[in-house]
Amino acid sequence: MRVEDLDRSRVRPGIEEAQLSDLRAIGLGWDGPLVRQSERMELYEEAIERLDADGLLYPCYCTRAEIRAAASAPHGISAADRYPGTCRELTAAQRAEHEAAGRPPALRVRSEDVRIAFEDRLLGRIEEEVDDFVVRRNDGTPSYQLAVVVDDARQEIGEVVRGADLADSSPRQILLARLLRLPEPTYAHVPLVLGPDGQRLAKRHGAVALSDRGEGADEVRSWMARTLGLAKAGETPSMEDLIARFEPHRLPREPTVWSPDTAV
Ligand SMILES: [Zn+2]
Repeated sequence: MRVEDLDRSRVRPGIEEAQLSDLRAIGLGWDGPLVRQSERMELYEEAIERLDADGLLYPCYCTRAEIRAAASAPHGISAADRYPGTCRELTAAQRAEHEAAGRPPALRVRSEDVRIAFEDRLLGRIEEEVDDFVVRRNDGTPSYQLAVVVDDARQEIGEVVRGADLADSSPRQILLARLLRLPEPTYAHVPLVLGPDGQRLAKRHGAVALSDRGEGADEVRSWMARTLGLAKAGETPSMEDLIARFEPHRLPREPTVWSPDTAV
């Protein structure tokens, strides 16, 4: 079990507790001790130092707005998020100028625009050109990409199963694992539960924590099982039943839409 709490601006007291208790209530447990990213800064820093020692990082002084403006050329869906390489070849004098202006730099990895391909267990082959992405933000926080690659290796994660919204991150993470000479996990990206507006289900769609709902944990688990084709209407299968029925290749490829009046 890993608590991804690096973004301190988004951490609220009590949330970790509530999420873990929701997981326990629906019958999900975990092996080994709980790992909190906020307590593993030295491990991430050590990985960043290794990349830097190999000459694979450079400082980037761009603001988000500058990157958006420079990346306006229409080439692919994630074009707005791709880094155009502005700071890749800055001279020492240019860097000094930015430093003098008081702009703290982020650190980016030199991807050499490499193409990374992998076989997703559900989505099939995914191939993408990786940009020079951030490994340390300009406030000193390690990036999500860097932290999960270090943690996946440390926690000996062989197969990453996660929401389809993170499929785009996998080529970056595979590249980082290679640059850090860490083992590469395999991937399965599963369809999300969406809100009525077609966006990823979130707090703004109404009460979505188990404790905010009138139903019991068994009903919620049964609803989730039905959306995965693992249970029939009106049936309340146990966790053991669900494990026995689980076949990764039979998982749906389409998202499930949830609304506040969805009967579970
Ligand atoms: Zn830059």
